[in-house]
Amino acid sequence: MMQLVRKIDEIKAAARGAAREGKSVGLVPTMGYLHEGHISLMKKARAENDFLAVSIFVNPTQFGPSEDLDSYPRDLERDLRLCEEAGVNIVFAPESSEMYPEGYSTYVTVEGGVTAGLCGKSRPIHFRGVATVVTKLFNIVRPERAYFGQKDAQQVAVIKKMVRDTNQDVQVIACPIVREADGLALSSRNTYLSPSERQDALTLSSSLFGAVGLISSGEKSAAAVRGYIESRFAGIESASIDYIEIVDPDTMEPLSLISNRALIAIAVKIGKTRLIDNIVAEV
Ligand code: AMP
Repeated sequence: MMQLVRKIDEIKAAARGAAREGKSVGLVPTMGYLHEGHISLMKKARAENDFLAVSIFVNPTQFGPSEDLDSYPRDLERDLRLCEEAGVNIVFAPESSEMYPEGYSTYVTVEGGVTAGLCGKSRPIHFRGVATVVTKLFNIVRPERAYFGQKDAQQVAVIKKMVRDTNQDVQVIACPIVREADGLALSSRNTYLSPSERQDALTLSSSLFGAVGLISSGEKSAAAVRGYIESRFAGIESASIDYIEIVDPDTMEPLSLISNRALIAIAVKIGKTRLIDNIVAEV
């Protein structure tokens, strides 16, 4: 039977108990409103660990003041059903006040190039919130392995760096992006899109696929690839580009010439909805 717990002490007791029995503990952190992207992380984690914990927590510290914290979609009942089907052992769904009680004042900040660009630039406190909540979850659950989606490529790089820099004993495992049949990367935020916006949103993935095609046919200039992606959005009225970046997939340092492996990452607002997507081009 899957367990649902709300309190830090409860998940600690369960995870420590499992570890004492010699079970390996896996963790999949999420903000809920689960979709096949989340499920793919859970399936991999299920296969690789004896005891699987999933956290469902819309983390307020990673949202800026004008962002969608209050409107972020939530459906705990449905999420629990999906977790149960995926073979999850325990779901940790704390209240904000459990994670950040009155007087809370400690944050984890990953400095330098890995947080300087991309989403770090347009969402200044975002990665401080992510690094803080993930550190807390790691301390609470003490997983042997934790699973993250490549959909949030910069998040993966930031967490890997944080774990390395602070000597945490957890293996961070990145999982491939799950897409709809037409290419749209699954996201809880896709639910905000109207039917015509959803159509416009397809340009995120299709322009990335096109960019990879351009690179495999010999284009090496990051500026040219950026220009190509920009041009793909030119006729789309609902779209406003936040960033198009071509960076080293591990350090997030901008590349001007594409050689080896390059992460092409984009953030685009479609109407009021900010969407991100990315792809790795291998030369
Ligand atoms: P979220 O609930 O959006 O914070 O996402 C929780 C985890 O699921 C993160 O590690 C995400 O990168 C991952 N994830 C979200 N969407 C996808 C997707 N389409 N494919 C793979 N992983 C995803």
